[in-house]
Amino acid sequence: MRYTHPEPAPSTVRVWPVFLPFAGCPHRCLFCAQDKQTGRTATDLDAILHALESDLRDALDQGRGPYELAFYGGTFTALPTPYPETFLSLAARFREAGLVTRVRCSTRPDCVAPDTLSRLRALGLDLVELGIQSFDDLALEASGRGYSGEAAKKGCALVREAGLALGIQLLPGLPGDRPGLFREDIRLAADLEPETARLYPCLVVRGTPLARAWERGEYVPWTTERAVTELAEALRVLWARRVRVIRMGLAPEETLDESVLAGPHHPALGQSARGLALLSLVREKVRELGGKPVSLTVPRRYSGELYGHAGELKPAYFELGLPETAVRFADGPDFVLRRA
Ligand code: SF4
Repeated sequence: MRYTHPEPAPSTVRVWPVFLPFAGCPHRCLFCAQDKQTGRTATDLDAILHALESDLRDALDQGRGPYELAFYGGTFTALPTPYPETFLSLAARFREAGLVTRVRCSTRPDCVAPDTLSRLRALGLDLVELGIQSFDDLALEASGRGYSGEAAKKGCALVREAGLALGIQLLPGLPGDRPGLFREDIRLAADLEPETARLYPCLVVRGTPLARAWERGEYVPWTTERAVTELAEALRVLWARRVRVIRMGLAPEETLDESVLAGPHHPALGQSARGLALLSLVREKVRELGGKPVSLTVPRRYSGELYGHAGELKPAYFELGLPETAVRFADGPDFVLRRA
């Protein structure tokens, strides 16, 4: 039996992140620690703008690129006037020079008025990543997000209607979480057919209101095991709908690592989840095979995740009848499963 991995092809253009911690945010959300997540505290937009211009010029002079410019860490569409326009005109200048090929930003689903989106699109914005976090009214309310599940869906629709590509960010394990909620959020997100998704299981970070709730025993985060299992399931759903999952779990960052008090923060979270998702796919194929498997050929690009983190999935493959001696890695895009 021959089959390919269901994950859509990754983008070949490198992302150039520009962090604008909390810029434009109407308030600080219960769980948010953008400053620690990004390791940046500067919110002087002029300083960020000038540093970006100089870095882009250096990159152009050195013949680097092309890049997708990504404005992250705040609420880009609600930046004070004229910063959204100024950042986008800067990006447009470097797009003309061939250094920048695409521009994306992150924002909240309640900050995407149609006229704002069409204005920013005309200035060169291509993709909007919405920090949806959840479509569930209860979780949104308990997390103090300030909008409803309906408003979250509406925000996604407005982005698509404005002719922009959509990215969805979900934050499973928020206050108000309950069994099955993340599965439902993933189903709703997949139905909205975003180009990309980011899945960041909720962490308790020092200095946030959520940390105080956790200290009082009012909030219990997900375990790493639960996060890996739920993320793996989510990956299968999103891959089946051709959604690129571009990040799971926050990137390791010194300031974040030392500030996480509780929750599923593990550097190999994504690798474990991807490995588990792949295992569930192989299991399915073994069932379809209708006989005892004798060998599995795996495209070499999946060699780092087939067995999850530190070989944790080797026993599961052994149980499937695929011990290490029956698995080989090869060039090419196909998985090949043979039976006796
Ligand atoms: S979660 Fe988003 S909207 Fe809330 S404070 Fe953080 S960056 Fe701002």
